[in-house]
Amino acid sequence: MGDYLRPVSLDEALKALARPWTVLAGGTDFYPARVGRAIDENVLDVTGIAALRGVSAGPAGWRLGATTTWSELIETALPPLFDGLKQAAREVGGRQIQNAGTIAGNLCNASPAADGVPPLLALDAEVELAGRAGTRRLPLSAFITGNRCTVLAPGELLVAIHVPKLARDARSAFLKLGARRYLVISIAMAAATLEIEQAHVASARIAVGACSAVAQRLPALEAVLVDAPITALAERVDAAHLAPLSPIDDVRGSAAYRRDAVVTLLRRLLRSFA
Ligand SMILES: Cc1cc2nc3c(=O)[nH]c(=O)nc-3n(C[C@H](O)[C@H](O)[C@H](O)COP(=O)(O)OP(=O)(O)OC[C@H]3O[C@@H](n4cnc5c(N)ncnc54)[C@H](O)[C@@H]3O)c2cc1C
Repeated sequence: MGDYLRPVSLDEALKALARPWTVLAGGTDFYPARVGRAIDENVLDVTGIAALRGVSAGPAGWRLGATTTWSELIETALPPLFDGLKQAAREVGGRQIQNAGTIAGNLCNASPAADGVPPLLALDAEVELAGRAGTRRLPLSAFITGNRCTVLAPGELLVAIHVPKLARDARSAFLKLGARRYLVISIAMAAATLEIEQAHVASARIAVGACSAVAQRLPALEAVLVDAPITALAERVDAAHLAPLSPIDDVRGSAAYRRDAVVTLLRRLLRSFA
């Protein structure tokens, strides 16, 4: 059994990270990955650090603290821009998982099927990382580099996720396809953020997860949605727009099924804006 530390300040945590620790937040990815073996590493529990918790708004946008749980996010009053992320939060496991699991844990675990990633990509989110040498901010799209791979350096913590404000009215939505309605790993999921002006799309950001090692934006689809009336978006989706995806065959579905299903998911998702 290694050491266990639960600091109450970020400073204390970063000082501790001068030597190797495994970070623990809600533990809902951490513990299932260690079933049947003793936990022999040093564990740094970040859930006691008040500065890492909760959602706040500023002139440039919103800051989601790293250890904000899915339940806390659902219960926070936020504009329609966050509807997609909240829809995803409601589908992360069941209530017990949503009460313990954190947004940053979902991102740092970097599963291709992490439900938080597509909605945050569609929100153009940035992550804030802190280490003893200082902090850095980078787009979420540059943070996750592969299946279970991120650019988090040894001694660094993800401290917050930043969502920029948009100039116009914006709404977002999320749809997940699983083998059943709840408590299921995604076969595919899609998220969209649309800026809307006079019932037409002024800008679009669309991301798809579980169909590539890292969730991907679909720039060609985003481009054809601009200027379209929000009542006529679904028909603009074309299989050619899925070029950035590289789905695999696995126990949950074949690559061909995923490609087919994503087209339907995207059409349903876009219809939900009408
Ligand atoms: C029954 C069950 C159902 C689930 N269903 C879903 C689902 O439907 N959709 C889905 O996306 N996920 C699902 N999950 C996975 C999991 O609940 C989520 O990914 C959750 O958000 C992970 O957060 P956590 O706080 O529990 O992370 P932890 O398990 O505490 O940590 C996960 C990883 O991130 C690292 N980490 C955590 N926080 C930080 C930080 N601030 N800085 C640096 N590194 C950090 C840890 O070291 C670890 O490697 C499910 C899990 C279970 C057990």
